Amino acid sequence: MKVKKDKVKIITLGCSKNLVDSEHIMAQLNASDIELTDDEKKAGTIIINTCGFIESAKQESIDTILAAVENKKKGRIKNLYVAGCLSDRYKKDLEKDIPEVDMYFGATSRPKTIIGILNELGVDYKRNLIGERLLTTPAHYAYLKISEGCDNPCSFCAIPIMRGRHVSKPMNEILTEARLLAKKGVKELVVIGQDTTFWGMDIDRKRRIANVLEKLSAIDGIEWIRLMYAYPSRFPYDLISAIRDNEKICNYIDIPIQHISDNVLKSMRRGITKKNLIEVLEKLRNDVPGIAIRTTVLTGYPGETDKDFSELLDFVKEFRFDRLGVFTYSEEDGTHSANIADDISVKEKTARQKAILDAQREISEENNRNSLGKVVKVLIDRKESNYYIGRTYKDAPEIDQEVYIDSNAELKKGEFYNVMIFDYEQFDLFGELEIK
Ligand code: SF4
Repeated sequence: MKVKKDKVKIITLGCSKNLVDSEHIMAQLNASDIELTDDEKKAGTIIINTCGFIESAKQESIDTILAAVENKKKGRIKNLYVAGCLSDRYKKDLEKDIPEVDMYFGATSRPKTIIGILNELGVDYKRNLIGERLLTTPAHYAYLKISEGCDNPCSFCAIPIMRGRHVSKPMNEILTEARLLAKKGVKELVVIGQDTTFWGMDIDRKRRIANVLEKLSAIDGIEWIRLMYAYPSRFPYDLISAIRDNEKICNYIDIPIQHISDNVLKSMRRGITKKNLIEVLEKLRNDVPGIAIRTTVLTGYPGETDKDFSELLDFVKEFRFDRLGVFTYSEEDGTHSANIADDISVKEKTARQKAILDAQREISEENNRNSLGKVVKVLIDRKESNYYIGRTYKDAPEIDQEVYIDSNAELKKGEFYNVMIFDYEQFDLFGELEIK
């Protein structure tokens, strides 16, 4: 049913890649005079962009759909559409189990999904809007998705099932999008993909992520370029000098290792050994002064012995990552590891997760203690009660630390300030404007 005049609300769940997709859809709708709203009460049409990554994310998506169905039953909304990874993966089950949804679409990484949603709302896809987005992040930073899908065979991961094989976004499209963002006042680009270090392999069999970052750094207005989702195996070493030598590329890298024991890395099909992994990490740390390394690890993977886990915990304590996230293993149907007995109890998985987090909390606290008296450059994200809150080059938005600045002076969002650190907590810093 064509519902051209209804206000539309897009609910985005999951990762920053989903967010970028939703922002593209919003720009298309906006260009066709479809009014967007953030307020669910004002929306006649709801589009839910779901996540299907792991159990908890799937449950959140289902709960969000069911809540919207309730609103539809009460006549508060007319149309309900569901897209994204959960819908891509379980379309048939969802159509059967929750038939109140008007239409289910695939992952929003697929162009046909976006076209399908637009057509359903009575508008045509406008090619001239390629790269255009309606930002949902604060105006001074934006995620920049440079590729979609993944060719890596990680045994536990369902992402390739939902988002397909790796496709590098063409360089000219990446640069067009980044220039449009810079024109809108974006200063920080957070570069994302499933495996950003694979960029170019499907174009000319070369890993040219360093080249992408350098080209982005030539764009006026962009001051920080932050690389997320680097993959340690077959790591492109030219990236290290690009990070070190280019002022605009943050001395920061997000490089999920998932584990460190050779036994588990092999079973996870990560394509790298403990020895090589440590070589990559140490080269990053030795060659790039002050680099902040973020990683992600997984606990409770099938067959992870006590010895394997202690090896991981010891490594986390020894290497002292600057930022770290930890997930517990969740069996995902259709993945390779779903064929391996999920032999570690939820209790044990969570206990191992807690042990890693406790170790990281101590490391973070010590690192923060060492920041006392130092002056750091902070990008202001927002103001909350008496504090201006921002981040240093070591902190990606939404997942890393923040700096709380107690200032009588009016500070501007999206501006950089030099801040003297006078206090700290485990995962945050407190400071005041540097007095010249
Ligand atoms: S690199 Fe591995 S974990 Fe990451 S998206 Fe690809 S398959 Fe999944």
